[in-house]
Amino acid sequence: MIFQDTDTIVAPATAIGGALCVIRISGDKAISVCDSIFKGRKSLRDAKTATLHYGNIMDNDEVVDDVVVSIFRAPHSYTGEDSVEISVHGSRYIVQRVITLLTQHGARLAQAGEFTRRAFLAGKMDLSQAEAVADMIAASSHASHAIASTQMRGAYSDELRTLRDKLLHIASLLELELDFSEEDVEFADREELRQLLQTLRERVSSLAKTFSLGNALKEGVMVAIAGRPNVGKSTLLNRLAGEDRAMVSDIAGTTRDTIEITTNIDGVIYRFIDTAGLHSTDDKLERMGIERTEQALRKARIILWMQEVGDGAELGFTPTKEQKLIRIINKIDLVGDKSLNCPSDDIPTLYLSAKSGEGVEKLIEMFKSITNASAAYQGEVIVSSQRHYEALTQASEALHSALTALDTGISSDLLSEDIRQVMYHLGGITGEITNSEILQSIFSRFCVGK
Ligand code: GDP
Repeated sequence: MIFQDTDTIVAPATAIGGALCVIRISGDKAISVCDSIFKGRKSLRDAKTATLHYGNIMDNDEVVDDVVVSIFRAPHSYTGEDSVEISVHGSRYIVQRVITLLTQHGARLAQAGEFTRRAFLAGKMDLSQAEAVADMIAASSHASHAIASTQMRGAYSDELRTLRDKLLHIASLLELELDFSEEDVEFADREELRQLLQTLRERVSSLAKTFSLGNALKEGVMVAIAGRPNVGKSTLLNRLAGEDRAMVSDIAGTTRDTIEITTNIDGVIYRFIDTAGLHSTDDKLERMGIERTEQALRKARIILWMQEVGDGAELGFTPTKEQKLIRIINKIDLVGDKSLNCPSDDIPTLYLSAKSGEGVEKLIEMFKSITNASAAYQGEVIVSSQRHYEALTQASEALHSALTALDTGISSDLLSEDIRQVMYHLGGITGEITNSEILQSIFSRFCVGK
């Protein structure tokens, strides 16, 4: 069967299991298809946009359900097409029966993401906003919600549009020079051009740099807890998570595998990985755990290197520049006089007792200042999609190449080609320049009904 973008489509828009469920219909025939199974005070065919109608869904003479129908007429709807939402009682049976009736009357089942895809094709939102709809639905914390909300409301799109408009201005001046190439004129002042390209590059790079934070806020900030067996890693994890999830015991090597616990601190999801500890062992099972530890350490944004008072163990791992290393010296409750030896390096060190909780509050404060989600809460644009990050990085490289070209006094046509590349990459984010394969891959990640 060949699906057309002009078909009238139907899908449940809510999860089944609550008191009510919304069935969504969109397309030219949305209202008439719904009207053919609806019995209310008046026909839906004459209903005005943004109105609600109470009535019954009928299967011939049988009443299937009491429902409320919302009517949205084109272009004043999510998809830009005539759309209907039917609120039915949330039983799987009712939902399936109503959808079957609608398909028998001319609608077809929607594909994954098809409603939002139509909204994009109708110009209701650009591609980055459409992607933000999926992020919004998946948001599980204040921070991930704030990023998706800023993106969905168009702040990111506005920013990219401003950048593209500036580039378009440069490109048109350069094209004009090409038209007059015989006469050797320069419409675009080269110094002005350089400054503009430089400003654009700085902005594009700084947007790309927000990805590391954006990705952490969206997926959860990964914190690896490393250290010798028995130093108290599981105990700390349990305290941070507020429940006894990791296994705690005083037999060295208890945490054989990595255990992940997520917890919400101040609106940010943290993914704590309690690792098996780095130490040499002949035990095959333990060796596998240690390999997973090494993997977790590579991926983590924050590494907690845990030791006990008087412990001189080595970390055995060099963090990258982007990773934040915190040394924790645990079990301070065991030290009577608290005269603790301070390690001589400059790694931030915190003394605490995972068992009693003393000092743990300070650790939480450190997490908050490292992650610093305030930019997200203040509505700043933060890139959280890998696809956008790659496009921005490529745009930044093309801008670099344009600036280098300018330095070498290259001809307008080659310079203009670099500028077109930048516009191509930025345009891919908002969907101004795109192809059906990209759209397919983006919208197929949505659920049916979105
Ligand atoms: P892991 O192997 O690093 O995960 O260590 P565990 O969390 O399993 O802890 C090992 C032992 O140390 C257990 O008996 C814990 O009760 C004990 N322990 C952990 N933290 C503290 C602490 O802050 N003070 C004291 N006194 N004991 C602790």
